[in-house]
Amino acid sequence: MREQKPLKYTALEGLSEKQLQEHHGVLYAGYVKKWNEIQEKLKTADRANPNGTFSELRELKLEETFALNGIKLHEGYFDGMGPGAATSGQLPATSAIRKWIEEDFGSFEKWLEEFKAMGVAARGWAVLAMDLDDGRLYNILCDSHNQGGVWNAVALLIMDVYEHAYFFDFATARKAYIDVFVKNIDWAVAEAVAERFRLAEFRK
Ligand code: FE
Repeated sequence: MREQKPLKYTALEGLSEKQLQEHHGVLYAGYVKKWNEIQEKLKTADRANPNGTFSELRELKLEETFALNGIKLHEGYFDGMGPGAATSGQLPATSAIRKWIEEDFGSFEKWLEEFKAMGVAARGWAVLAMDLDDGRLYNILCDSHNQGGVWNAVALLIMDVYEHAYFFDFATARKAYIDVFVKNIDWAVAEAVAERFRLAEFRK
């Protein structure tokens, strides 16, 4: 059983309580509920008649990763923002992540330009992640929870760009939402993720 993680805040600068509650309390909560339901169904799923066009096992395993990545991506997204983070997207010069970004993308500004543009180009997610196999940072684009992700990678920053993430507050103005997301990034959370997974050890 997975439990829903509570939101650390009720509203953010530029993102209303209503927008966040609909997103967290309804949509994210739904992925947790469905993942738990799938785990129950998998206990008795038919393994004797697997089929690549349609079978109970195929459908359950397909939606299991959709639901699970829906949970992981949303938890990273909500955790990665913070009220009063007020960093305006900037990272202190002493930050390890800033150093890695500068090494891998040329400059913080170049990385941010690509990350924001990917928020428009993607249909679901833009993710800054470290691929543990080469220790480099990549901006990863996903159109759906279980599409486009990279294995052996650790997500440092996750931006939801589905319409449901911003439509209540911004209507179709996705670029304005992306600017608000960037302003609310709590880089201390990304730094904590880097520490937790000892990402410095993967730099070559
Ligand atoms: Fe979402």
